[in-house]
Amino acid sequence: MSVDTKVMEMTQPQKDDGNRALHYEENLLWEKKRSDHPGVDFPPVAGTKLRTGVGERGAIGLPQVSEPQALRHFVRMSTWNYSIDHGFFPLGSCTMKHNPRLNEKIARHPGFAHIHPMQPESTVQGALGLMYELQNWLAELTNLPGVCLAPAAGAHGELAGMMTIRRAHEQKGEGKKRRIVLTPDSAHGTNPATAVTCGFEVRNISTKENGMLTVEAFKEALTKTDPDGADIAGMMVTNPNTCGLFEKDIMEVTELLHKAGGYFYCDGANFNALVGKIRPGDFGVDVMHINLHKTFSTPHGGGGPGSGPICCTEELAKYMPVPTVLKGGETYKLEWEDDRPETLGRLKGYQGQFGMHVRALAYMLSHGADGLKQVSEDAVLGANYILRSLEEDYHAPFAHQGSCMHEALLTDKHQKEEGVQTLDIAKALIERGFHPMTVYFPLVLPGTMLIEPTETESKDAMDRFITVMKEIAYEAKAVDAEQYFHGFPHSSPRRRLDEVKAARNPVLRWK
Ligand SMILES: *Cc1c(COP(=O)(O)O)cnc(C)c1O
Repeated sequence: MSVDTKVMEMTQPQKDDGNRALHYEENLLWEKKRSDHPGVDFPPVAGTKLRTGVGERGAIGLPQVSEPQALRHFVRMSTWNYSIDHGFFPLGSCTMKHNPRLNEKIARHPGFAHIHPMQPESTVQGALGLMYELQNWLAELTNLPGVCLAPAAGAHGELAGMMTIRRAHEQKGEGKKRRIVLTPDSAHGTNPATAVTCGFEVRNISTKENGMLTVEAFKEALTKTDPDGADIAGMMVTNPNTCGLFEKDIMEVTELLHKAGGYFYCDGANFNALVGKIRPGDFGVDVMHINLHKTFSTPHGGGGPGSGPICCTEELAKYMPVPTVLKGGETYKLEWEDDRPETLGRLKGYQGQFGMHVRALAYMLSHGADGLKQVSEDAVLGANYILRSLEEDYHAPFAHQGSCMHEALLTDKHQKEEGVQTLDIAKALIERGFHPMTVYFPLVLPGTMLIEPTETESKDAMDRFITVMKEIAYEAKAVDAEQYFHGFPHSSPRRRLDEVKAARNPVLRWK
């Protein structure tokens, strides 16, 4: 079979493909042709005096559509929002796992869904008890006893955590002296952004060669402007890091940091790889955030509000934001500023995203300790299956170092020689009905692709993805990339966009 015939065959819909046909173009309701038969049969309004006596009612310009037209309009648009319930969602770093319906069912229980944060505490004892139980689970899983459930997202938790560290230094009279926060260059963008927001100066630790934090690079950064590191407030490290690797030197690094008087902020967004296996408090973490919407399966990515509780050591617990739920005898109460004067204060109104607390605890209780352990084992197994299946087809920069954690890192190095880049691969995936992986992140190497299958994907789903990725790698070699790849996607309602123009000249209003 000639190469051309093979490619022709590949471009035909195959059983591995996602949905292609029956996509509806859908205009705005206002753009629909005004019909003479409005959906609602009210008499004409013209000439009717308002009872208030001010002017006459004229047409108010609502679109005139029937109920089926209105219904179809919204249902069609709802299908444009790709979600984990549609299919495989391999976004690295985002942990797009299944949101069990059991969580939803429990969160809709009227006793949880219909309460208000301003109700007297005596009337919401069950809800406070649930939050208390969640605090205990998080404390147990992290081995960090201080828990504040309030932060509304991962990045908000980072802010809460770094403000806690700042507060601790201030209370020890070292606030002015300790100005620097160390972060590896593999850090999630929110890490340096948080440190700067808190008024710290960010110092980079280079991880280039093997994608890992080394003791040497850390020491160099620690002592750059002070031989004892007395100007260091702390470090922000994601572990496992954004290359999908567990930081092997973390114990040694933490010891050096603690000796210098700095605190270890762990970005806990990748906790899905560790949960139930190891406890971050055991590798020296002082404070970390947990993305309930990643590790503990509450919806995200447009599907629901996030929730980013923080967990910290006993030492830091008095400084973290309020409130926390306390238990005295059989009664629960929220602990506010008056109860804990050392606190940095409150970060938001009320107590956090309670609906997400319900879902997260439902997830924990339905898995149990052994189930949570299996979550991380299966997540890591899935990522390694993808890494090993694709390492011959794509450049896998760190594959020689051993297994990855819960996400696999590839780059476009081999395909670039043929004129095909990460963006083209992502668009080719869309053409094949797959949501792309995370692209051009982490920034440690050019053209990165970060793939996180999560534990909830079956081997069958992963095999389909692997097959399509192999076909794309084959096509990149076999066809004229300029003509073929740069046109993807062909079948989606929107074709290849001018992303630079869209970013520089966003048109945000419909005219
Ligand atoms: C998702 C993520 C964050 C931020 O969490 P949000 O809930 O999106 O604010 C921070 N760090 C890492 C490594 C992440 O993956």
